[in-house]
Amino acid sequence: MRIKDIIIKKRNGGVLTNDEIQFFVDGVTCKNGNAIPPEQITALLMAVYFRGMTRGETLALTLAMARSGKTVDLSGIRGVKVDKHSTGGVGDKTTLIIAPIVAACGVKTAKMSGRGLGHTGGTVDKLASIPGFKTELPTEEFIAAVNSVGLCVVGQSGELAPADKILYALRDVTGTVESLPLIASSIMSKKLAAGADCILLDVKTGSGAFMKTPEEAAELARIMVDIGNGAGRKTAAVITGMNRPLGNAVGNSLEVIEAVDTLRGKGPEDLREVCVTLASRLLFMAEEYSANVNSATRADKDDGSVVVNMYSATRADKDDRLEEFRAKVEAVIADGSAFQKLYEMVRTQDGNPEALRNYSLLPRAAFKREIKAPDTGYITEMDTERWGTTAALLGAGRKTKDDTIDYGTGILFNKKTGDYVNNGDVIAVMHANDESLFEEAERTALAGITLGSIEPKKEPLVYGVVE
Ligand code: URA
Repeated sequence: MRIKDIIIKKRNGGVLTNDEIQFFVDGVTCKNGNAIPPEQITALLMAVYFRGMTRGETLALTLAMARSGKTVDLSGIRGVKVDKHSTGGVGDKTTLIIAPIVAACGVKTAKMSGRGLGHTGGTVDKLASIPGFKTELPTEEFIAAVNSVGLCVVGQSGELAPADKILYALRDVTGTVESLPLIASSIMSKKLAAGADCILLDVKTGSGAFMKTPEEAAELARIMVDIGNGAGRKTAAVITGMNRPLGNAVGNSLEVIEAVDTLRGKGPEDLREVCVTLASRLLFMAEEYSANVNSATRADKDDGSVVVNMYSATRADKDDRLEEFRAKVEAVIADGSAFQKLYEMVRTQDGNPEALRNYSLLPRAAFKREIKAPDTGYITEMDTERWGTTAALLGAGRKTKDDTIDYGTGILFNKKTGDYVNNGDVIAVMHANDESLFEEAERTALAGITLGSIEPKKEPLVYGVVE
């Protein structure tokens, strides 16, 4: 087999066989004496970007990537282990809020998170902005932390789905991120290898997401949910809006601050609503999973087949239960126990937890510059990807895969889609450590805003659920 032939086959719209996909993944991770250089890897990625993959190819790619390294054995963790994964957005700091909330409700999160990709931020980069915080832990310490605190969030270990680690970094800098099969296989290979019992996918849609339309997002959600459930994990997806940044902060330590504010009941309403929705859904999934594990009855039939009766809530039960979990989530925010979980997690992972109480201990940028409305009217649209790019230009993201991040930089929004602004009103404030970055960043940001005289329709924060 030759990689060049595989590239040409995909370039011409062919369907790759499982063996060809396995050969590619082996070559990415230099297995079996086969090493594929970056230029050929990215050529195939670009061919997939343009030609797509069938469901069968996507499944084969996911499984080959999941098997490309070690898998995590979480059996040392007592109780149900949940994981939540976002497909990527701008200002998306939900993991920092949801994992402590569900831990405060007694459900454990054992999570491996990614770094920023393209114009989107990554949870690991946000956590790394907390002084001292360790994003890498040996597996035994990871498991011990989940058992003692109820949550632990680390970076994706190089040993877990290493093929994804290589592909992810190459896609980030070669314009091949926004591909449905590449996103689905990237996310699900890691989720399968990471071992959680329940996986909740937050599939973002809109101008700041990789999936620009709700239809594309629903298709991605369906593919991933089917892969997860097919592999025996309880998997669901919530499709959430990304036509404007989530919350008001974009940039690593700025987002940590907003996450802490939200955990203390003082965060922006859109961020709070998305987090409460996702956290209550995770608690519901964990309960259903436990009910299944505890009540599944196995019947061996005469013909040798096996029937397993699974518990499944009716629609009405489900809505009631979700409401009860919402109330529980609100309660752990109100009584401070969710914040306390984040505090304990940071301490356990060697970060300075006092930085969550005293924000001056977090990295902060030296310079600020306001972005002012160039006219009067409603903000009718935001090109959220451009705002993500603006934050990256200020230092909050990477331009090449080895770039370092300037943790205190980013953007704080005063106004977003739907708000009315007068000419000269401050839409957002940029934070940077180098004033020369402001000009290009401001130009990029202003091109990402449309003003009009008619108030735009309110867009949903949550578009739907795929189970
Ligand atoms: N998140 C991932 O882990 N992979 C992608 O490809 C996109 C978002």
